[in-house]
Amino acid sequence: MATYETDEPILYERRDATAWIMLNRPDFANSQNGQMLYALDAAFARAVDDPQVRAIVLTGKGKHFSSGHDIGTPGRDADLPAAARHSLWGDHSELDGAASTYVREQELYLGLCRRWRDIPKPTIAAVHGACIAGGLMLAWVCDLIIASRDAFFSDPVLRMGIPGVEYFAHAFEMHPRAAREFLFLGDRMPAERAYALGMVNRVVERDALEAEAGAIAERLAALPAFGLTLAKQALNQAEDAMGKRVATDAAFNLHHLAHAHARMTTGSAIGGQDARSMAAGGKEHPLPNERSTEAKG
Ligand code: ZN
Repeated sequence: MATYETDEPILYERRDATAWIMLNRPDFANSQNGQMLYALDAAFARAVDDPQVRAIVLTGKGKHFSSGHDIGTPGRDADLPAAARHSLWGDHSELDGAASTYVREQELYLGLCRRWRDIPKPTIAAVHGACIAGGLMLAWVCDLIIASRDAFFSDPVLRMGIPGVEYFAHAFEMHPRAAREFLFLGDRMPAERAYALGMVNRVVERDALEAEAGAIAERLAALPAFGLTLAKQALNQAEDAMGKRVATDAAFNLHHLAHAHARMTTGSAIGGQDARSMAAGGKEHPLPNERSTEAKG
């Protein structure tokens, strides 16, 4: 039986009316394992349940926001507690083949992302350093994204034969023309370009990131809470009316066709180049961390 790390993968702190939730696997560039994702879910739930919290900031400890999904460390998602699961897909570890991967990612990736996107309180992602693949998913489900000038964004999983991350919001986060470039080339998009494309709300200096996110959170916290919830819901519903939910479902299924294809041709759920060669790809920035595990498809 695999065991989880004992360190807290998520830190939680309330500052006045704002909940600060911090990804806390800095030695692994905040790559996401099952333990971290459920701890993140618990932190979001705590913020929602606390009537004094009126805004939420999500940020990362260490040099990077998040390098993606954990594909390399022991026990990355073994023994996920049944009580913590949110979908009714069951225990993926009881399944084999494509079913196991499909069920796991319905629960951990697509399912949790949709749940967090619908949090009734305003959320801000404060992004610095690497925001790669699964890292994108955490930033994209937030209402606002504030980036530091050193931040960069990429979804390089096509190099492993996978057509984008599980929560496929690319064409909603940027113009489809830009999304093609982003996805096909897999290059690292600097914060300034992400801002120019409308994917990021503001770009600030690295040492001003926390203060800027905090100041915006305070402004959100001062608004009529229910009205803000309804405004958020209206925008989420507008996106869904434009096809976001159907499009992300369709892409998720194609994602799993690619996983199945990779498994049939390479014996692994990810094909093409291996994770390390993928991590070495892209431009403009060095590897997030030698010990990090790069994003998974
Ligand atoms: Zn996947």
